[in-house]
Amino acid sequence: MNQSAATPEASGPENRYDVILIGAGIMSTTLGSLLSELEPHWSIGLFEKLEGGGQESSDPWNNAGTGHAALCELNYTPQGKDGSVSTAKAKGINEQFHVSRQLWSHWVQNGTLNDPRTFINALPHISFVWGDTNAEYLKVRYEAMKAEPLFSHIEHTEDQATIGEWAPLLTEGRDAEQRVAASKFHDGTDVDFGSQTRQLAAHLQKSGADIRYGHDVTGLSRARDGRWVVSLKDLSTGKKLKASARFVFVGAGGGALSLLQGSGIEEIKGFGGFPVSGKFLKTTDQSIAERHHAKVYGLASVGAPPMSVPHLDTRFVDGGRSLMFGPYAGFSPNFMKSGSFLDLPLSVRPHNILTQLGVAKDNRDLVTFLLKEVAKSQRQKMEELYKFVPDAGPDSWDMITAGQRVQVMKRNDEGKAVLQFGTELIASADGSIAGLLGASPGASTAPSIMLRLLERCFGGLVDAWRPKLEAMVPSYGRLLNEEPQLLEEISSSTAATLRLNG
Ligand SMILES: Cc1cc2nc3c(=O)[nH]c(=O)nc-3n(C[C@H](O)[C@H](O)[C@H](O)COP(=O)(O)OP(=O)(O)OC[C@H]3O[C@@H](n4cnc5c(N)ncnc54)[C@H](O)[C@@H]3O)c2cc1C
Repeated sequence: MNQSAATPEASGPENRYDVILIGAGIMSTTLGSLLSELEPHWSIGLFEKLEGGGQESSDPWNNAGTGHAALCELNYTPQGKDGSVSTAKAKGINEQFHVSRQLWSHWVQNGTLNDPRTFINALPHISFVWGDTNAEYLKVRYEAMKAEPLFSHIEHTEDQATIGEWAPLLTEGRDAEQRVAASKFHDGTDVDFGSQTRQLAAHLQKSGADIRYGHDVTGLSRARDGRWVVSLKDLSTGKKLKASARFVFVGAGGGALSLLQGSGIEEIKGFGGFPVSGKFLKTTDQSIAERHHAKVYGLASVGAPPMSVPHLDTRFVDGGRSLMFGPYAGFSPNFMKSGSFLDLPLSVRPHNILTQLGVAKDNRDLVTFLLKEVAKSQRQKMEELYKFVPDAGPDSWDMITAGQRVQVMKRNDEGKAVLQFGTELIASADGSIAGLLGASPGASTAPSIMLRLLERCFGGLVDAWRPKLEAMVPSYGRLLNEEPQLLEEISSSTAATLRLNG
């Protein structure tokens, strides 16, 4: 979209803004914070149906808080039929996480974000497997990762005693004869995206954005003059309102699909959503939590979606420390925790029904996996934990329900209906409206996704913005894996600013 006006627009019968953001999750608040720095005079309205920011998927207990940098998540390094391991996807995600670290550092330095310990903490990332086939895979992965500058500091071992030093809960009570293997990065992170979202929202408000909580966006339409008109309901009074803008971002998480469908844009046609819910076991028992200091990711079971990879995570939330294991996938037709059972059926439209049916036909493994997960008893769920923590006592762990992930269903380039586990940026051809579908790697890569959105929707302004963008993200437009010297400089400067050095 070609934005030229640089002043807030006058109020009329409807509230008029340059930009409207729908939803106060990590995506909208990241985009709003970028725009308010790039164009301080643009007026921004943000509408959120809940009573505060970061309360849906971005809430720390609704996600796993992993700073996804592809250090330990084995689904980003698939093994080919010839036995080789591809690092392509892992490199892409790691590059994006370096962008996140740079933008967050910039925002800490200019006061947009508070003390980094309130939203990011250093935490080793470990991949852990057992059995011969898996141990062989991890060894090949280690060799492949080590060859890349981004991952050259990877450590690897098959020695149980060394793994016990890295993470004692993994080896205590384990059969000493069992073949195990682990790879470790010392520079992983745990991120509280809820805290970060709320800090960004507070800063946006201070910078002049009109933020309205308790306001449900009920529809989107295009006015004759090209502006987008947003219909709203003030949930505290029941009053119906209208607001308009030249650009709208549908950052509504699980609510994005239906709003984009309602906007009538061509680009959303054919897309559907498949919700997967998740539960975690959590302990705040400090005698256990303090003995584990890592995020440990394993391998997914057959048919399991990539986001159901089991992991044992130290979490830092609100100054407290806890330990989480999961997720246990499940099925609920809600698209948000605060959503409705009708979300899935209402998302089926004539233009996406074939996609939905195609996905259902081709993903029997996933359906079987979800049915089995839902049917698991508490004892069977604990058994999954014992595979990681053989000595875990059953009484110290409580089950918590995490957020909903709405996986994208779409037609791929060959026209085949597929279930996609990444995030999908949808933008109208004229760039006047955009939204985000999907969940993974999600919040960790919000800065890269939102920079991509700026390029797609505000392409004409990017050259003018470039000096500011390069001040925010010094590696903007460059690949650190190809510039090892820059990689080293940026890694150490962001680690210092974000206080990740201990
Ligand atoms: C179980 C689970 C584990 C995850 N683990 C990780 C992880 O370890 N690391 C990681 O990086 N990511 C993880 N994610 C993904 C991450 O949580 C999401 O990518 C991210 O939070 C999405 O942010 P968002 O702003 O798009 O959505 P949200 O945070 O959900 O925000 C959307 C907002 O829009 C509001 N909204 C919706 N509809 C309307 C409407 N009609 N009107 C007004 N407001 C509306 C909602 O109330 C909500 O506040 C995980 C997700 C889940 C569910």
